[in-house]
Amino acid sequence: MSQPRLTVLAGPTAVGKGTVSTFIRDNYPEVWLSVSATTRPPRPGEEHGVHYFFVSPEEFDSLVEDGQMLEWAVVHGKNRYGTLRSKVEEAMEAGRSVLLEIDLQGARQVKASMPEANFVFLAPPSWDEMVRRLVGRGTETAEEQQQRLETAKLELAAEPEFDHTVVNDDVQRAAAELVSLMGISPRLR
Ligand code: 5GP
Repeated sequence: MSQPRLTVLAGPTAVGKGTVSTFIRDNYPEVWLSVSATTRPPRPGEEHGVHYFFVSPEEFDSLVEDGQMLEWAVVHGKNRYGTLRSKVEEAMEAGRSVLLEIDLQGARQVKASMPEANFVFLAPPSWDEMVRRLVGRGTETAEEQQQRLETAKLELAAEPEFDHTVVNDDVQRAAAELVSLMGISPRLR
């Protein structure tokens, strides 16, 4: 029997948080994956309302001022990202199992306001593998990659703050482990 609760998934850059959460969105309809607001422009193939709510800096300011963000952060020194409080609350009230895929700063804010939530750290199989994935996906410039790796070093040190660690050695397996931590039966093909 699944137990509705809020789970926060965080972990260093390029560890595959996006891939694991997309896999969960596509394969575990029981999980309600929060769609964040961001001031970053969409990448090719990204859709408003599906991957993010793409908003202007002014719109983001008003969401923060109106108290509509459960948490928010400037990620990688550039763009702002935040979780829309009302959507998460609605999903929880509807008895859904809620998953937030956010950065470490956001995870710490949620921990301060909702310490009863389930905090899961997604770890890379190794540092070298993480560097390989970051460089391989080719979505950042060399300068951005360097900055993300600096952030990743600090983020890896935060693992003990979390209730559980899931190693992303294989997306399907890591997703199965994560959903079982959410009280949902994993389906492995
Ligand atoms: P990307 O730009 O690659 O989609 O995401 C960059 C980073 O922003 C990722 O580490 C992701 O976890 C984080 N992120 C996405 N949405 C949120 C959010 O709502 N809040 C916070 N704090 N971080 C987020």
